[in-house]
Amino acid sequence: MRRLRVGRANNLLVRAIAEDSGPMVDWLVAHGFHADPPRPDAREDEAFMCDFGRGQEKFQRLYDDYLVPGGARVMTETRALELRQDERGAVIGVEAQRQDGTRVHVACGAVVVAAGGFSGSSALLRRLCHSDSFYDRGLTTQCSGEGVLMCERAGAQLGPEIMPHMQEYLANPVCNFTDNLIKYLSYAGFLTVNREGKRFMNECLNVEDAMGSGCASLRVQGGAYYYLISQDQVDAIRERGVGGYFDGRLGDYLSKSVASRALVPIPNLQESLDEAVARGQAWRGESAEELAALVGFPDPAVFVATLARYNELCHRGVDEDFGKISPLMNEHAMPLYAIRSVIPIMGTLGGVRVNERLEALGRDGAPIPGLYVAGQEGSGFYTYPYYSTRCITTTYAYCSGRIAGKNAAGYATSR
Ligand SMILES: Cc1cc2nc3c(=O)[nH]c(=O)nc-3n(C[C@H](O)[C@H](O)[C@H](O)COP(=O)(O)OP(=O)(O)OC[C@H]3O[C@@H](n4cnc5c(N)ncnc54)[C@H](O)[C@@H]3O)c2cc1C
Repeated sequence: MRRLRVGRANNLLVRAIAEDSGPMVDWLVAHGFHADPPRPDAREDEAFMCDFGRGQEKFQRLYDDYLVPGGARVMTETRALELRQDERGAVIGVEAQRQDGTRVHVACGAVVVAAGGFSGSSALLRRLCHSDSFYDRGLTTQCSGEGVLMCERAGAQLGPEIMPHMQEYLANPVCNFTDNLIKYLSYAGFLTVNREGKRFMNECLNVEDAMGSGCASLRVQGGAYYYLISQDQVDAIRERGVGGYFDGRLGDYLSKSVASRALVPIPNLQESLDEAVARGQAWRGESAEELAALVGFPDPAVFVATLARYNELCHRGVDEDFGKISPLMNEHAMPLYAIRSVIPIMGTLGGVRVNERLEALGRDGAPIPGLYVAGQEGSGFYTYPYYSTRCITTTYAYCSGRIAGKNAAGYATSR
C-alpha cells in the first residue's frame, strides 16, 4: 500500500480499496468464482495476487444465479447518454438509447457510472492525455468517454491524475506485433532510439518497471520510437528466446520481472520481421548509414553517432550515458534492424474525481448527490506513471465497484 500512496493519490481512497480487497475476494468466491491462493514462489509484485482464471463464464454466473433472480433488470446493447438531475442537482435517472435507436429513460435513486474511461476517443485522449498517438488494438474502443463527459455535464470535476494505461512492449498499427511474440523483444533491453535517431533512456526500465517508468520514458518521446536488433541477436532469440540469448549472464534478473513471459523461443521472429520490413515498419541495413537512410531519420549522422557511442559503451561494459546494467549492454553488429513501435494502451486510468466512498465530486469539492463513479474513469487511486503492480487495475475495478454499489444502495434506500 505504501507504493500506491504516492504523488497525488487520494490516500483515503487507496486505503479503502486495500481494505476491501480481501473481502472482495471472499465475496467473489462466495458467489461462484474460483480463486487460487497466491503462489508460494510469487514475485514481490504478485505476492497478494489470486488467480481467478480467464473467460466470461464466471461473470455469466453472477448474472444468472444472483443478479437476475435478485430482481435486477439487465439492459444490454443500451448506451447511457445523459444523467438526469433534480433542481438540487441530485442525480435521479439516466437517458439511454437502445441499438435500434429507441430511447429509454431509467428513473433511479442513485447512479454508478462505470463506463471504463476514454481510450476509444481520440478527442479525449488529446484533451486529457495530451496525445492520441497510442496504439489500441480495438479492445477498448467501446470506452468512448461518454461516462466522463456525462459526469462533467452533471457538474463533476476531473481529477489531477489522468493517464493512458500503457504497455511497454512493441506494437505497430500496420503489423500485428501484439498477438505475436515479437512484442516481447522489448524485454531484451536493446538500444532504443527516438524519431531523431537519438538514444533517450535506460532500456532496463522496460524490464524492471515496464509499465511504469519504462512506458513513461517512451511516452516522453511522443509515443513512437525505434527498437534496434542485429541479425545475430534475431537468430539467437528465435532459437533460444530472450532468456537464452543472455545465456545465464543475467542470473534470475529476467525471471523476476514481467520479462519472464519472454523466456521462450520466438520461432517465427524472422518471418515477423520480414513481414514488417515488407510493410515498411522495419528496416534492415548493412551499415549504420544505410539503415539511417532507409528509416529516414532527419539527420542520418545523429543515428550513426548514436550507434557508434552505444557500441563503444557496450565494449567498455559501462553505460555512462543512462546507467543500463552491463549484462544488457550488447553491441549491435551488422546487419541491423530498426523496428518502428508505438506505445500500446489497454485503456485509460482516471477521470472524474471521487472520494473514498466513490462519490463523484462537484466543482465545489462536495459530492454530487446520487452520483458514484467506479472503475477506471474515476480519479484518485492512480498516480503517473502506473505502478507496475500485477492486476492492480482489476483490483481497483472490482473493489471500487463494490464500494460504490454499497454506498449507492445505502443512499437510494435512505431517501
Ligand atoms: C488486453 C487487456 C489486457 C488487460 N490485462 C490486465 C491484467 O492482466 N491485469 C489487470 O489488472 N488489468 C488488465 N487489463 C485492464 C482491465 O481489464 C481494466 O482495467 C478493467 O477491465 C477496467 O474495468 P472498468 O469496469 O473500469 O471498465 P471496463 O471493463 O472497460 O467496462 C466498462 C464497460 O462500460 C461499457 N460502456 C462504455 N460506455 C458506455 C455507455 N455510454 N453506456 C453503457 N455502457 C457503456 C463498455 O462497453 C464496457 O463494457 C487489461 C485490459 C486489456 C484491454
